[in-house]
Amino acid sequence: MKAELFTDAAGNAPNITSNTSEMFPLRDDVLFDILQRKRQGKNIEAICQMGWNLTLVYDETTIIRHALEAAAQAIEFDFASFSLVDTAANALRYHYFLEQGVFQTVELLLALDGPRSISAAVARDGVALNVPDVTCDSRYLPHDEAAPPTYSELCVPMKIQATVIGVLNVESGTRNHFTVIDQFLLQALANQTAVALQNARLYAQTQRNTRELSALINATHVLSANLDLNTVLQQTLVQINTLLEAEDASVLLYDSASDDLVFAVVADSCASGILFGQHVSLDAGVVGWVMRNKTSVIVENAQEDPRFYSEIDALTEVITRSLLAVPLIAKDRAIGVVEVINKVGGTFDTHDRELLEALASSAAIAIDNARLYQELIDQIQVLQATQVKLVHSEKMGALGRLTASISHEINNPLQSIQGCLTLAKEELESPIRPEKIERYLDIAEDEIERIANIVRRVREFYRPSGQERAPTDIHQTLESVLELSGKELQHSYVNVERIWDPAIPQIVANPDYLKQVFLNLVLNAIDAMPNGGNLTIRTVLDHESIRIEFTDTGIGMSPEIQARLFEPFFTTKAHGSGLGLSISYGIIQEHNGQILVQSEVGQGTTFTIVLPVT
Ligand code: ADP
Ligand code: MG
Repeated sequence: MKAELFTDAAGNAPNITSNTSEMFPLRDDVLFDILQRKRQGKNIEAICQMGWNLTLVYDETTIIRHALEAAAQAIEFDFASFSLVDTAANALRYHYFLEQGVFQTVELLLALDGPRSISAAVARDGVALNVPDVTCDSRYLPHDEAAPPTYSELCVPMKIQATVIGVLNVESGTRNHFTVIDQFLLQALANQTAVALQNARLYAQTQRNTRELSALINATHVLSANLDLNTVLQQTLVQINTLLEAEDASVLLYDSASDDLVFAVVADSCASGILFGQHVSLDAGVVGWVMRNKTSVIVENAQEDPRFYSEIDALTEVITRSLLAVPLIAKDRAIGVVEVINKVGGTFDTHDRELLEALASSAAIAIDNARLYQELIDQIQVLQATQVKLVHSEKMGALGRLTASISHEINNPLQSIQGCLTLAKEELESPIRPEKIERYLDIAEDEIERIANIVRRVREFYRPSGQERAPTDIHQTLESVLELSGKELQHSYVNVERIWDPAIPQIVANPDYLKQVFLNLVLNAIDAMPNGGNLTIRTVLDHESIRIEFTDTGIGMSPEIQARLFEPFFTTKAHGSGLGLSISYGIIQEHNGQILVQSEVGQGTTFTIVLPVT
């Protein structure tokens, strides 16, 4: 019996090359079979040829159809089927039937460990079966009760190494129909098909890997190119969307103030409105567990997981079925969790987890960087605010120094006013002389005007400097500083000489800040001349820039002092702040200008300020 001969043979294909005499004695009937086929024009070579053709096909459906077509060319049968093993379902999945030249796509699932079905038995055991009469085989399971009865069935496994990946099956309405050669041919075909399918799968896998890898590289690029936290979070969701098929995704970040997690971004816009900013305790939910354990989690059925936190579902009215949560780890610290829920058409697998972990590692770094950057920006802002305050306080200090001389300046006209008023009153008591009273009142009025002027100048200087730049007349600015410090100069016996270059144009500058610089230079010059001296202020138009020189005849500076002049808090004075020149330096730099110094001990000092005209 042919069937018995081959049911005993283990393995994919009968080994006809190494053991020909034993397995295939060239019996008359075998020879006859081969000759018969030749006469029938059966294309045995088609099967050999097919192997080559299939290696270039990467589409599973085409491979299967080719295999069945090739089988039809080489073997006579009434019905053929093609099925593949579905490991996850532990079943044999039928894909194609070929009946009287008609292909039919089917979707039939048969348990691998069931007692019926010869195909299932072959898939399970990996051994070919040639059954001469299925009516005598209890395993036989008709594919269609309505179809003409089958008597012979030949079924061969498709194997990749020791693993059965599917089954090729042919049936006939004649008893004892399939020969040794049929089995050999079908097995050869099955072997080739298995290789082709494996190739196609590897190819698809490679393609998928390439796609995912390039998506991951792209994600890393996009994420690392951003320093804005919100953009990074949004981009994380965009990248998740390209890598995984899930209904919703969100990123929760650890909030150290409340020691819990906060929804920082949510993909689904409806859920986002509800969840954004929501806090989740570290003791609640899968995300809390992931955060605490720094370990990813795949939950196939969320509703049955004891860690699942149902309150979020209650809030969003979304039912979480499957869930994948991955920790965001930056510099060994868990900084949050990425969560995706409800995989489209199934549950998340380890491959999804690996993809999300890869993405999460880029996202974590990007989030950490964005936060650091934000902190830096905040610190710079605080620093800038502090600096503005410092500049202002230095200005107040300079003004404070002038208080004594300014009050003195106010005191003089006040005394004069008082005198005038007393005289005017006396005139009122004596026979009235209106012209005299008028003169006294005129003087008083002038003096009041003087006081008002002083007060205005002080107030001008006192108010916090604005940030605006405007066309500024440098000479006017210098004059207002000299007016402010006039009494101080006078009391210190410092004589001021002005050498104004009339060609100097207005320049765009911040006059408040320039006044501060000029006042500091004047006060420093006064300090440098304890016994009085000369301060010459000269302006020069020099091509595209203007120069303002402050030359004193004071004590001068040693090279050591000159080297440290612009350092903050460097002072040689008992009550100096050491901030005047460092602040001036900053202000002039902001104006794209320069401060230069030339000094000689015992001779005097010249500070030169260079400002661009445009
Ligand atoms: P402060 O006036 O509070 O000391 P500044 O930054 O204005 O701070 O000046 C720093 C130091 O530079 C002064 O303490 C002084 O030693 C030196 N200095 C500045 N201007 C002159 C000058 N015209 N002549 C001599 N020394 C000067
Ligand atoms: Mg100073």
